[in-house]
Amino acid sequence: MSVLFPQKCPVCGRIIKDDGQALCRECKAKLPVITGARCIKCSKPVGAEGALCGDCKKRKHAYTCGYALWNYDSCTGKLIKEFKYSGRRDYADWLVWELTYHMSDFIKRIKPDAVVPVPLHTSRYRQRGFNQAEIIAKGVSKKTGIMYMGDVLIRNKKTIPQKKLDDMKRNENLSGAFALNEDNMRKYGNVRTALIIDDIYTTGSTVDACARVLKSRGIESFFAVLCIGQGF
Ligand SMILES: [Zn+2]
Ligand SMILES: [Zn+2]
Repeated sequence: MSVLFPQKCPVCGRIIKDDGQALCRECKAKLPVITGARCIKCSKPVGAEGALCGDCKKRKHAYTCGYALWNYDSCTGKLIKEFKYSGRRDYADWLVWELTYHMSDFIKRIKPDAVVPVPLHTSRYRQRGFNQAEIIAKGVSKKTGIMYMGDVLIRNKKTIPQKKLDDMKRNENLSGAFALNEDNMRKYGNVRTALIIDDIYTTGSTVDACARVLKSRGIESFFAVLCIGQGF
């Protein structure tokens, strides 16, 4: 198949020569993996081990702590956009592999009872045909054996894309956006901790909004994302 349909790199558009790779070798080498010290709360790069980032110093979070694989830059931005809007689900396997592999220590440390994707509003789901967070969460669940809990969070408000708003407006935009489906929640028995999955984390307002809903049911939240960007 790859001979008939040479696969293009989602970042630079060049033909990928290595079989089974989602990115070309050059772009893969440029991926901004976070390697140094991370914020103990949100996992953004910081100057020293054990420190909080500027954003987490300013804001209290409803989640306990999280993990991010890459920094948000033009390369990872393009990659996520391609995955999110073009329906290229074939990237999903590779993204799941990268995320699960790199966060294995984090998973061992927090031992979550369930994996929970950030839900899309039903109208947006219909429009796009899939939820990128759901695809990643299902993959993480399959790879780690952690229970998948994809139907307990509901998005009952159609929100404006968060990237268009400043920090205060982001919180307003998300207020009351998520709710818990009590009927579905009952199926899962005693869940005490959840790993919330999303593609991008910026100020954390989306993860926080989900964590607050889960907290109302006594569930402690952690999160994992592909990319983390700077807040405001
Ligand atoms: Zn490339
Ligand atoms: Zn932080």
